[in-house]
Amino acid sequence: RKYKREMNLRKKCHNELVRLKGNIRVFCRVRPVGQGEQDEGKNVVAFDANDDAVLQLYNKGKAMTFELDKVFPPEATQEEVFQEVRSLITSCIDGYNVCIFAYGQTGSGKTYTMEGVEDNPGINQRALRLLFSEVSEKAPDWDFNITVSMVEIYNEMLRNLLGDNPNEKLDIKMCPDGSGQLYVPGLTEVTVQSVEDINKVFDLGHMNRATACTNLNEHSSRSHALLIITVAGFNASTGHRTIGKLNLVDLAGSERIGKSGAEGSRLREAQCINKSLSALGDVIHALRSKQGHIPFRNSRLTYLLQDSLSGDSKTLMMVQVSPLESNASESVCSLKFAQRVRTVELGTPTSRK
Ligand code: ADP
Repeated sequence: RKYKREMNLRKKCHNELVRLKGNIRVFCRVRPVGQGEQDEGKNVVAFDANDDAVLQLYNKGKAMTFELDKVFPPEATQEEVFQEVRSLITSCIDGYNVCIFAYGQTGSGKTYTMEGVEDNPGINQRALRLLFSEVSEKAPDWDFNITVSMVEIYNEMLRNLLGDNPNEKLDIKMCPDGSGQLYVPGLTEVTVQSVEDINKVFDLGHMNRATACTNLNEHSSRSHALLIITVAGFNASTGHRTIGKLNLVDLAGSERIGKSGAEGSRLREAQCINKSLSALGDVIHALRSKQGHIPFRNSRLTYLLQDSLSGDSKTLMMVQVSPLESNASESVCSLKFAQRVRTVELGTPTSRK
């Protein structure tokens, strides 16, 4: 028991160190077994009642232990998950740039976590509601303008989901003012002030996403969906201005489709997904280990998010996992990815041993 207590203490210190040192956190959410899935093999995920940062997964008769910053079991509610990310979200009111990614194989619950379902919204809608209420408390000293853009990245192309012509080609450019900031000329930004505004915007984004494809489910599992929220504040009495960006990203499915003999357009899609997901992992890893060169330009996704991944911005990776035995090997891949982006190099402690 003493050993266990010692280990818990060490882990707490380690977590605190990581929290203080890096701005990247990695959470894991395990989705419940769905109705009709009971036949697809047994549940292979186990939790530690004393430690909400540890997850065990049984794959091919072997137990593997993964340590993250927090693990949400299947019974965790949308509200409980949101409570753990709300301080990240409100930090964009103070001018921080924030990225929250949902990562995992198709069907692991990424869209459930980010978008949610009709009567139980996910992080996207809850974030905007929270921002509305937080900025209203800062009035009348501060005046805030909240705008949203919705972007899809498919086959390394950007689509402007709130635009009149979503298929018009968009490019990422460097601001001509020499500030080093990036922008996307022509990207539509819509001001939102109420829940009705949010619903209208989400409906338009969904409609535009759906019009480009014959099978929305397949298409959305092979493209990244970004909700980009900009919070700009102005204090008339002091003249202070703040600007923070919140990027909420439902990533393409991480399953290894490229290895199953895909051809033609499927192969191209797979290559683009692999490229952008590994580029994202590389960028986060390089940032975390404080490498000199950060390879932002290796994918559209990382290039577009460059401003929000560097400097003192904050990043959260929500790794989604299915509890089913039939998905175990993909779950192992996702959790290994999680561990990789979580690793600190350069002599700092990497994990509890
Ligand atoms: P992905 O976006 O990763 O492909 P989805 O979010 O579409 O996966 O989830 C697959 C299915 O599982 C959906 O029917 C979704 O509603 C359900 N689901 C996922 N996570 C949860 C959860 N935490 N609670 C209840 N149902 C969930």
